[in-house]
Amino acid sequence: MIRDNHGRPINYLRLAVTDRCNLRCFYCMPEEGIKFLPKPHLLTFEEMVRMVSIMAEMGINKVRITGGEPFVRKDMMQLLQSITELNGIEQVNITTNGVLTAPLVPELKALGISSVNLSLDTLDRQRFIDMTRRDELSSVLKTLDALLENDIKTKINAVIMAGKNDEDIIPMVKLAKDLPVSVRFIEEMPFNGSGINKEAFMSHTRIIDMIRETYPSLHKLQDEPNSTSYNYAINDFKGSVGVIAAFSRTFCGTCNRIRVTPTGTLKTCLYDDGVMNIRDLLRSENDNGVIKEKLYTAFTNRAKDGFEAESLRSAEVTESMTTIGG
Ligand code: SAM
Ligand code: SF4
Repeated sequence: MIRDNHGRPINYLRLAVTDRCNLRCFYCMPEEGIKFLPKPHLLTFEEMVRMVSIMAEMGINKVRITGGEPFVRKDMMQLLQSITELNGIEQVNITTNGVLTAPLVPELKALGISSVNLSLDTLDRQRFIDMTRRDELSSVLKTLDALLENDIKTKINAVIMAGKNDEDIIPMVKLAKDLPVSVRFIEEMPFNGSGINKEAFMSHTRIIDMIRETYPSLHKLQDEPNSTSYNYAINDFKGSVGVIAAFSRTFCGTCNRIRVTPTGTLKTCLYDDGVMNIRDLLRSENDNGVIKEKLYTAFTNRAKDGFEAESLRSAEVTESMTTIGG
């Protein structure tokens, strides 16, 4: 396994398989969408599989498929099958908005998908429409049911913003009372296609304080190594709750992940603006050994944390999360 220049093992790839999406979450994209890139700019199915197999030989054993919305890709199930079959890949997880996912869940189970992160910011239909600009709450809830019926480990991810959906925090926590889900609240980051909205920012500590006011039995759980979430239990709850300090960046010291965008840009930190283009290399280089060497150099020259990575960028963060994958 590779260790980076700060001694952190690198074994986790987050692969954004498309920049397209069927929702328009306002913290991720402007209402009119972004300028989606022409298909030839995006990694092909074959390029993705080749890249992941090269990385698997370097010690990547866990892959998260994200996007854009992964399931808007027509070849998504074949891609998942090819990636799950690669030597060395032990875990394949997916992050989805759940709009198209429900009917595919039995197939995901059959493929051995380890866990699914379902993005859901509110249980209120009108707020869902306001936040995502689409009327799809019922499809997302069907996906939640299907995941639980098929016994797939499920985490619900909610981006929380003051005055927008902070009143959803307690109703969402309640989901974990009877359901074996982990409900995680994420700090908003500036990746919305335009820049930061500081007025609505809610820190992970403020979110936890709010939950504790309603549930004084809230207590800390032991987090898994390399976890980005701080996890908590509540007495008599089947599931758990968590917070992700995505903007405060308190977890960088144990970060084991790298990211590849739909255009094949390698990011060794969420906050960098790309350290290398793998797509061009895959298209020009037949020797996997050469690609491995270049990846190794990038993996072992990482910024120490998200603040350093941000300070090294050529321009401020304004890009949409749909071009990165979260
Ligand atoms: N479309 C899929 C989905 O929504 O689950 C996968 C891609 S989405 C970019 C991945 C995650 O990033 C989602 O959980 C989403 O809520 C989160 N996200 C998007 N924009 C964000 C932002 N500005 N701040 C924090 N999280 C964000
Ligand atoms: Fe689409 Fe996910 Fe971005 Fe929402 S957060 S617009 S579902 S990519």
